[in-house]
Amino acid sequence: MSELIKQTAAALAEKLSAGEVSSVEVTQAHLDRIAAVDGTAEAGVHAFLHVAAERALAQAKRVDDDRAAGVPLPPLAGVPIAVKDVMTTRGLPTTAGSRILEGWVPPYDATVVQKIDAARLVTLGKTNMDEFAMGSSTEHSAYGPTRNPWDFTRIPGGSGGGSAAALAAFEAPLATGTDTGGSIRQPASVTGTVGVKPTYGGVSRYGLIALASSLDQAGPCARTVLDAALLHEVMAGYDPCDSTSLTDPTPPVVAAAREGAHGDLSGVRVGVIRELHGNSSGDASGGSGYQAGVLARFDESLNLLQKAGAEVVEVSCPSFTAALAAYYLILPSEASSNLAKFDAMRYGLRVTPEGAPSAETVMAATREAGFGDEVKRRIILGTYALSSGYYDAYYGSAQKVRTLIQRDFAKAFEQADVLVSPTSPTTAFPLGEKLDDPLSMYLQDVATIPANLAGIPGMSLPSGIADEDGLPTGIQLLAPARADERLYRVGAALEALLHERWGGTILDRAPEIEGVTR
Ligand code: GLN
Repeated sequence: MSELIKQTAAALAEKLSAGEVSSVEVTQAHLDRIAAVDGTAEAGVHAFLHVAAERALAQAKRVDDDRAAGVPLPPLAGVPIAVKDVMTTRGLPTTAGSRILEGWVPPYDATVVQKIDAARLVTLGKTNMDEFAMGSSTEHSAYGPTRNPWDFTRIPGGSGGGSAAALAAFEAPLATGTDTGGSIRQPASVTGTVGVKPTYGGVSRYGLIALASSLDQAGPCARTVLDAALLHEVMAGYDPCDSTSLTDPTPPVVAAAREGAHGDLSGVRVGVIRELHGNSSGDASGGSGYQAGVLARFDESLNLLQKAGAEVVEVSCPSFTAALAAYYLILPSEASSNLAKFDAMRYGLRVTPEGAPSAETVMAATREAGFGDEVKRRIILGTYALSSGYYDAYYGSAQKVRTLIQRDFAKAFEQADVLVSPTSPTTAFPLGEKLDDPLSMYLQDVATIPANLAGIPGMSLPSGIADEDGLPTGIQLLAPARADERLYRVGAALEALLHERWGGTILDRAPEIEGVTR
């Protein structure tokens, strides 16, 4: 195995600019790793739905040629990246994990993808995901699940399990994600990687296949806080093609990550959210759904933050107990209307029934064959919640809860600069365990959903390894809207302390993956 695949993006960028290694070598090392471990839906990590080997090597060669010719290059030029399959890529298949988009090759790039290309990153391929980003395990992908590199019998989280697993299996040093209710942070938590959901509007949604437009936000996935910051800076910024894009300058996330790495947090107030701590009567998971090892590592992280000089206080956000319920009305409502465009006329699949089919019967047959069970479940829920007579009772009430959650956050941020909780209540659960129990799957996101409802930024980073199962655990940091840099400052400080505590990164402790052959 090449040592190049174990490097951080920051280290690769340095080696590339110093001319110690070429982008073609770095790219080839990652493609070799993908060929060795990614396998298929039947065996292997299966992080990728599409590997763009030739295109990646051509991109890498252009970076090498430009560097040799003295052309000034952006900081991450020549570093490989994996792109979640929910982002449109011109000339590369884009399915969002759905049968209904099988074989679709978009005619345009998402803004995020354009920015990645402009930063001269090398796109290795497209990563697996739950269909239309609905799920917490990647098992709802129409193309078969991704496996957790820590243990192939377990889920890698979702919906962005492919991106997180690609990082944890050292198939890519960077990846992109989208987070509507936790799809960047929960996969990061269960794979021992770092994931950030930026402030809503901080990263353009143009060219992301929409799930719930008022909640969706794209963000960086990486193995370190600094790498996430470097990618965040590439992805973020105002985009006239997205009407909800913020015009503010991107917060100074890279500077904050570098500053935080020195570990001094004096004067920083850290608020522990009582309702997301699993041992209070107002527990938002409805009884302590939190695993002992997750809580133990969380409490240990709080001690480390205190040691670094932070003041730890408790805050209360009482309406968080209704967040999950509100989310599962708002999300299906928006999703059901966003998915109406898959009508067999414009994209991908078209199923024509026997006899004399009408437009309606073609549409119905296509949607029946093209959508999976979870997608159908949410379309039904959403159309019901939006139907006349029920709209005020369901959708209207959920929007009121959303306002209460925003108020709870505003109050909490008067007492603390960042808020913390465990990211996911458990470590990676076995494949298949929650497939027939949607509600228990939904509970995976009890701690991540409030940030989406309020539009604030959140980060998950590894907090350690649970004693009971040897699997990684995650801690979530939250900051006020447009203060994303706080996540990076506190996250980098905590990461440095945790590396000391564990004698290296958490991922260093993942078992080696035996080669699987394609
Ligand atoms: N797991 C959550 C859901 O199924 C979150 C999805 C997401 O963030 N895309 O809705």
